[in-house]
Amino acid sequence: MAPLDRLDDWDDFVAELYPEPAEAGGKRREDYRDFDEPPRDTVREFYRLNHRGQTWNFVQRKKAEYLTLDRAELPAWEALEFLNTLVDDSDPDLDLSQLDHLLQTAEAIRADGQPDWFVLTGLLHDLGKVLCLWGEPQWAVVGDTFPVGCAFSDRVVYPELFAANADSTNPAYSTPLGVYEAGCGLDRVDLSWGHDEYLYQVLRDCLPEPALYMIRYHSFYACHREGAYSELMNDRDREMFEWVRSFNNYDLYSKSDRSPRATELRPYYEGLIDRYLPAKLNL
Ligand code: FE
Ligand code: FE
Repeated sequence: MAPLDRLDDWDDFVAELYPEPAEAGGKRREDYRDFDEPPRDTVREFYRLNHRGQTWNFVQRKKAEYLTLDRAELPAWEALEFLNTLVDDSDPDLDLSQLDHLLQTAEAIRADGQPDWFVLTGLLHDLGKVLCLWGEPQWAVVGDTFPVGCAFSDRVVYPELFAANADSTNPAYSTPLGVYEAGCGLDRVDLSWGHDEYLYQVLRDCLPEPALYMIRYHSFYACHREGAYSELMNDRDREMFEWVRSFNNYDLYSKSDRSPRATELRPYYEGLIDRYLPAKLNL
């Protein structure tokens, strides 16, 4: 069995790790912070594989493999329906589908009167999880992202598990800056491989810059929540990360048990898709 029973277990884990601030009606962060005792075995096992496997070489290999973007050519809504064929092992009646999560996120953004490209970003942000449908293991699709090619921060969850990563004993990759220059900007930094970078590359010519930042860095919790790796950022990154943090609130805190009515919502979202995206996406 895969380490996570459901792919969403990871999202649920980060939502508990970073609960909504008390003033917004959420539980206090301290109420959750003892997440590693007792350890949740499936999540820890997931991170064991992730932290061991996400090396500099692995990331270069996956970029070469997937960024040809020649696996499928699909209209965006069909791509979302394709993603939605990703069914979890456990009771499907109790779980929200991938499309439910995307629509809930987008609807929460829309309800706040945000710009239409922001709403569209909510709808699309996890589309990169189609990597799972092409046989990628969970640890190479979801989970917190972090830079490879420089020392791992202890502000990444389960930092002790990086001991099993070959890069942590490679002198070229284990100094604070590693292969990077201070302030070089995140665009020059390779993050661990997963659904964020992949979808960014798919949509990079279609959406405004803040949207691309949201997509590319939404799982980079060590940076946008914990403030790690700021030495690699430039001023543009710092400015754009306000958008990433704003997006993160919708991603984490819009979950509800009610499935949005996809058929009713579809015409509105097809309108947004037509406004920003080509007739077909190269995946
Ligand atoms: Fe995501
Ligand atoms: Fe999400």
